[in-house]
Amino acid sequence: MDRPEYEHKIARRFASFDQDGNGHISREDFNAAAAAVLAEFDTAARSMKGQALYDGAEAFWQGMAGMADRDGDQRITREEFVSGAVKRLRDNSQRFAEIARPFLHAVLAIADSDGDGAVTPGEAERVLRVLGVDSGACAGVAAALDTDGDGRIAETEIITAFAAHFTTPEPDA
Ligand code: CA
Ligand code: CA
Repeated sequence: MDRPEYEHKIARRFASFDQDGNGHISREDFNAAAAAVLAEFDTAARSMKGQALYDGAEAFWQGMAGMADRDGDQRITREEFVSGAVKRLRDNSQRFAEIARPFLHAVLAIADSDGDGAVTPGEAERVLRVLGVDSGACAGVAAALDTDGDGRIAETEIITAFAAHFTTPEPDA
């Protein structure tokens, strides 16, 4: 991948995290993502699942801040994102999966409408879209996750896909 293309992908990832579009990543963006998931799946913030989601969002933010907020001002600027988060995550999707796991676990508990511990491709698509994965890619990504075509996607598969989206270059379209 040539450099401008790579930087374009980084810019898109930064924009995915910067949910409110104010130019930096902060706790508010993670809370906004949690609120968007609750709205998408019509779940109350004051429910058990809603509280677990906000706890997971806070842990996700703390993990990202620990990697990237170098000056400790509770904001990750684009420069901090590129020099901190991107470098550390690029070759370490496992680390990203760890910090995102509590949040994603809570998201999937909300998305799993029948409570069987797995989501359908349709539910996975809604999760990916609401979390800022490029809308054109969501359906394809979600369908690809259901590798055996039984209509059920386990949590580990979602976490792996989410981490891969943020940590490895995508194939060229
Ligand atoms: Ca922001
Ligand atoms: Ca900072």
